[in-house]
Amino acid sequence: MDMKYVPTTCPYCGCGCGFNLVVQDKKVVGVAPWHRSPVNEGKLCPKGNYAYEFVNSPDRLTKPLIKKDGKFVEASWDEAYKLIVSKFKSYKGDEMACLSSARVSNEENYLMQKFARAVLKTPNIDHCARLCHASTVVGLAGAFGSGAMTNSIGDIGESKCIFVIGSNTFEQHPLIGRQIMLAKQRGAKVIVADPRFTPTAKQADLYMPFYSGTDVAILNCIMQQIIKNGWEDKEFIAKRTKDYDKFKEVVMKDTYSLENVSKISGIPAKDLATAAEWIGKAESSNVLYSMGITQHTVGVDNVKSTANLQMLTGNLGKRGGGVCALRGQNNVQGACDMGALANVYSGYQSVIVPEMRKKMIDAWGCDIAEGKVGLTVTKLINTLADQPGTIKCVYIMGENPMISDPDLHHVEKGLKNVEFMVVQDIFMTETAELANVVLPGACYAERDGTQTSTERRVQKWRKAQDPPGEAKADWQIICELGKVMGYEKQFPFKSAEEIFTEVAKVTPSYGGMDYTRLEKPEALHWPCPTKEHPGTPILHKEKFSHPDGLGIFTPIEFKYPAEVPDKDYPLILTTGRCIWQWHTGTMTRRSENLEREEPTGWVEINPEDAKALDIKDKEMVRAVTRRGQIDIGARVTKDIKKGEVFIPFHYAECAANLLTNNALDPVAAIPEFKACAVRLEKIAEAK
Ligand code: SF4
Repeated sequence: MDMKYVPTTCPYCGCGCGFNLVVQDKKVVGVAPWHRSPVNEGKLCPKGNYAYEFVNSPDRLTKPLIKKDGKFVEASWDEAYKLIVSKFKSYKGDEMACLSSARVSNEENYLMQKFARAVLKTPNIDHCARLCHASTVVGLAGAFGSGAMTNSIGDIGESKCIFVIGSNTFEQHPLIGRQIMLAKQRGAKVIVADPRFTPTAKQADLYMPFYSGTDVAILNCIMQQIIKNGWEDKEFIAKRTKDYDKFKEVVMKDTYSLENVSKISGIPAKDLATAAEWIGKAESSNVLYSMGITQHTVGVDNVKSTANLQMLTGNLGKRGGGVCALRGQNNVQGACDMGALANVYSGYQSVIVPEMRKKMIDAWGCDIAEGKVGLTVTKLINTLADQPGTIKCVYIMGENPMISDPDLHHVEKGLKNVEFMVVQDIFMTETAELANVVLPGACYAERDGTQTSTERRVQKWRKAQDPPGEAKADWQIICELGKVMGYEKQFPFKSAEEIFTEVAKVTPSYGGMDYTRLEKPEALHWPCPTKEHPGTPILHKEKFSHPDGLGIFTPIEFKYPAEVPDKDYPLILTTGRCIWQWHTGTMTRRSENLEREEPTGWVEINPEDAKALDIKDKEMVRAVTRRGQIDIGARVTKDIKKGEVFIPFHYAECAANLLTNNALDPVAAIPEFKACAVRLEKIAEAK
């Protein structure tokens, strides 16, 4: 029997845990601890433990498929490429769009944006970061000049006060949850603000349930208390920041008094005061947030408010401090870093700055798409649905907007308007079903590459087995397509490492990295601009990334969500994930041990609301919003605030995103997944 262990990086959440894939007779058969990974030191959450189960699923795509007379038929790669190329060449750049993926490697994201811009000449390239952390990229870049998590995961365990808002860390980033517990054991205070009494909230020293969408009011109130009590860091504010007075003027308004914000948010005034005291007096304090902060029409405002709080208390550039924006998917940070975004090339080099465009033209050796911001995922879907014929051709790699995007009826309408669609994935997803051509990709265990975790740590995937059937690594597919499109010189790569070498050449923050340096278990945190640079676990130590080195305070007023409860839709719907499933369920729902734990969706409702509606625990109910309805089992639980309901978004059979609102943040274009108005009906009465 041939057996080996191959160390690699988990393909699920942004923690970036390392583990060994157990390979027996050339097939992945299990996962074993890799104690040398500094991120998780051999420990894993359930998803990591079972991350081998979907790899050899019988559902894997193994051959290219072409739709003929409404049915998919198997085809050779040559046939598929021939058809794709003839179609791609028949459209103008502006008539095409590409979606890249937070699930695939850095190298593949880099190539996808290069393919879009250099081969298709389209500026329309984006990916699902738009749906989770676009507001982080914009908000933190506005405040600090860099839109990423400021401190490392291990650093969280060093903090003396941890404020978690909009993150169910124990379920969504379990190995970061471990750091919260380590900090707590070392005496840290833990504050959790969440409408649900989540497993994270249950570990808090102070739990503050609040109405979804009131984050700015809460943060302004806490900051007002800090200033009123003189707990702000005056020296840090004076030396390292600007625009403090404008910010202070807003925060000190009566609107943000304890009493008023208590009314707005539902949090008792004394708890808001306690939170302010703990944060204001702590030797170090950090903020952990995730999509509860970002997925709002005021997502950028929310993010900037967390930045304001950390500048106010001088908790940046030091151990135990920071704004820890917890990125969701394994490589959402890397996909952004690689320029799979409508407004930037790799390394956040703006497409509208002529020198940046010229740099890429010179590096790639060909003309590229016009230097203008392309359509984001959300605007692309709206364009497809509302202006049919504008975008005629879409190329999607590793994304499933038919489950992940808000207002799914609208998404379906849009995708059905596309004349020609190519989807590249490892399984036949709900989106792939609508494609004209489906290309079988390799999964994380079947290719080399790198991914960048939420803490900006760039780590390696190492190939453990061959892809099934005729499936190929995404980078290989893009290179082959590039060549048949006539761009052999731009896509000469024979390995992921060769692609990474080009990434390092054109991306300043990755400039000092190479595969040899990344081979070490601790890998490297960007920015790492030169071969001698050790990487940067903590950002903004001496100065911020703005040209003048200063952090910028922003005055932010509270605004209600785009849709608030009324007599027809009297409850607030919020959505999220559970520990057993991952995003659209493409991988976890094909993992027996994970699927068995939570095999379908549910709606959580407070006992008082349930009683008023005569809804019993486990009873099927109908959830209805202005955009759609689903039938779903009720979970009556005190763990959710009265007036709110929660639905996990993993399940196609009761898709939460049939209900959610696609109202967008005006700056980051992120949809408001986290708050919309809903009503629940007993099924019998609904007929
Ligand atoms: Fe994988 Fe995240 Fe779990 Fe770590 S915490 S094992 S990265 S899913």
